[in-house]
Amino acid sequence: MAVGGCFCGKVRIKYNGQPLASGLCHCLDCRKLTGALYTYNYVVRSAELDISGSLKEVAKTSDSGNNIRNFFCPDCGTPLFGQKIKSDRDFNEITILRAGIFDDIQILNDRKPEAEIYTDR
Ligand SMILES: [Zn+2]
Ligand SMILES: [Zn+2]
Repeated sequence: MAVGGCFCGKVRIKYNGQPLASGLCHCLDCRKLTGALYTYNYVVRSAELDISGSLKEVAKTSDSGNNIRNFFCPDCGTPLFGQKIKSDRDFNEITILRAGIFDDIQILNDRKPEAEIYTDR
């Protein structure tokens, strides 16, 4: 299990699985939502996340035309994870988790980036 959380510590996240994928994303949305030039993300099963603390949700149509929502700490603004909004129901079983939120660097050592997308910008 890996633990992590936001900058101010009010949101804590425990992750109990192995990422389905890992990758760097250079898309405009990722740049804007983090303020960094790219994001490093784990694609995880939502059911394997245990989140404590309240979240701020921001929904948007993404660069690539999908309806997405991103979740932030409402106090310090740390971007924590995102999901594609499904038309049929509210819950999405897949979550894009920001890899930088982990306190445990072991998970980062165990799981290196496997892909890099939107690099031609
Ligand atoms: Zn915070
Ligand atoms: Zn992106």
